[in-house]
Amino acid sequence: MLTRSEIRGCLTARGPAQEELFAEARRLREEHFGRTVVLRGVIEITNVCRVNCDYCPMRRDNTRDNDRYFMSSDDMVDRAREIRDAGIDIVLVQGGETPRNLSAVEEAVPRIRELFDGRVEILLNLGNMRRGQYEHLRELGATSYILKHETSDPRLHEAMRHETLDERLRCMRDLLDLGYRVGTGLISSLPGQSLDSIVDDIELAASLGVHMCSVSPFVPAPNTPLQLAPIGSNELALNTLAALRVHLPSLLIPSVSALEKTSQGGQSRGLAAGANVMTVNFTGETDRNRYLIYGKDRYVVRKQHVQELVAQAGLRTRGSVFLDAPTPGGALRYAS
Ligand code: SF4
Repeated sequence: MLTRSEIRGCLTARGPAQEELFAEARRLREEHFGRTVVLRGVIEITNVCRVNCDYCPMRRDNTRDNDRYFMSSDDMVDRAREIRDAGIDIVLVQGGETPRNLSAVEEAVPRIRELFDGRVEILLNLGNMRRGQYEHLRELGATSYILKHETSDPRLHEAMRHETLDERLRCMRDLLDLGYRVGTGLISSLPGQSLDSIVDDIELAASLGVHMCSVSPFVPAPNTPLQLAPIGSNELALNTLAALRVHLPSLLIPSVSALEKTSQGGQSRGLAAGANVMTVNFTGETDRNRYLIYGKDRYVVRKQHVQELVAQAGLRTRGSVFLDAPTPGGALRYAS
């Protein structure tokens, strides 16, 4: 593990020092995971959200103007079948935070498990919920959950998300306690964020004991209060990613599409900086165009793009690392 000043030093490394940092991050990735990259398939199930994050075009204040959609459980299962047929065993079900399609998700989760004969990681990214709701989804067969803390600075968190960091952390602790494999994540170059705050983000991931953590450079999206803010630095995002790998070598760290959005070749550099997860988009075209995560011209990741990048990096794709690992808190029998 690194000290605070070592983490800070990683964040500002450039030139040969940055290359050295990335080489160490790649070495540790290989030591812990071999020369592999975990492949996920994502389904984006709704663009409606009750939260009002200042950086997101799907924020609550935009709901009326957005072309809203809710995917049915049948559609979710159809998309999951495509993921299975593509040889991927992680189904990431992602959407805005809304109770309105929770019942469709609850219906889909056991059906997706059945589709894969139980050999599937069902990874949810659906926002804050009550502990009982997480527990029910876990019983139905959800394996893992992404709930990004976004920024560990409580004041900045509240200013940007209009929600408390404490409540977010309560959710994460509930998820961990219920035996989920949990992923957090941060946005780097968020307006008003200091370098020390990013050091805090990395230390928070360590203290929570999460299994996954992402780093996304800030993208000023249209129709948001931050649309005129400067675009995030890819160098800072990549250095943060590499620092995470060196500090917490066994984390799953994705090379996210925002890296590609902010700089062509960004996802390839994410792999060079120590990332070991990539996500392919399986949302149907109509819904995909309505899922405005970074605005209408977001970068949509296809399987071929991922395969090319992974091969260029001298790596190979692999399935879930969690399927054969012992479940935290003991085995769970899923409801059928
Ligand atoms: S970032 Fe997530 S929680 Fe925030 S408004 Fe967008 S969809 Fe909702």
